Amino acid sequence: MPLLIKMFPCLSDNYGFLVHDSESGQTATIDTPDAGEIMRQAERAGWTLTHIWNTHHHWDHTGGNAAIKDALGVTIIGPKAEAEKIPGIDVTVGEGDAVRLGKYEAKVYDTPAHTLGHIAYHFAGERVIFVGDTLFALGCGRLFEGTPSQMWAAMQRFAALPADTKVYCAHEYTLSNAAFAVTVEPDNPDLLDYIKTAKAKRDKNEPTVPTTIGAEIAANPFMRAGSAERLGEIRAAKDAF
Ligand code: ZN
Ligand code: FE
Repeated sequence: MPLLIKMFPCLSDNYGFLVHDSESGQTATIDTPDAGEIMRQAERAGWTLTHIWNTHHHWDHTGGNAAIKDALGVTIIGPKAEAEKIPGIDVTVGEGDAVRLGKYEAKVYDTPAHTLGHIAYHFAGERVIFVGDTLFALGCGRLFEGTPSQMWAAMQRFAALPADTKVYCAHEYTLSNAAFAVTVEPDNPDLLDYIKTAKAKRDKNEPTVPTTIGAEIAANPFMRAGSAERLGEIRAAKDAF
């Protein structure tokens, strides 16, 4: 059996993600935007939540930690560098650590920028990465705590992964990111194709997540920035867009 992933909308534009190993029965929710919805979706799938894996401390990623832990007694894993801001955290992880879900293993990457302790979870064997609010389809996270050079380092790191790696971003921001991205690269054919496909999906109320590393390398202005300085300029222009 492959690693099973279930994705569903939460709050106004977040995604909830459940990952499940059928052999061990272990199930993790990546972040906790909405405790009630996450527990309903797990129940509907017939999966019992055993873990919460947090990417960063923002409320739309940790707000359901306490309710889920209280209800189900799950183990909460989260970023070492902002552990004091993660409600109910049991296990702290950072760069070089690995977390297990049954027979599957995810490597932890430090991706500081959006927040200083932000981490990503990479199932290298399955070519799947959960990037939280670091990388978005056609965008990147706002620099609330970190710097353009930190974000550029994260972009380069993601760009080095296999092109077919599926990227699970935590928000459906694609069309608003697209409106800005065309102002950066109005003549990039891959970007124009990407936007056409994304619009068609959204018209049918389908998600544009997951994306892939290859698609982002071809079309995402932040992945394509080329330098920390240029990424900083593009990020500032997006903030004012
Ligand atoms: Zn965030
Ligand atoms: Fe968020």
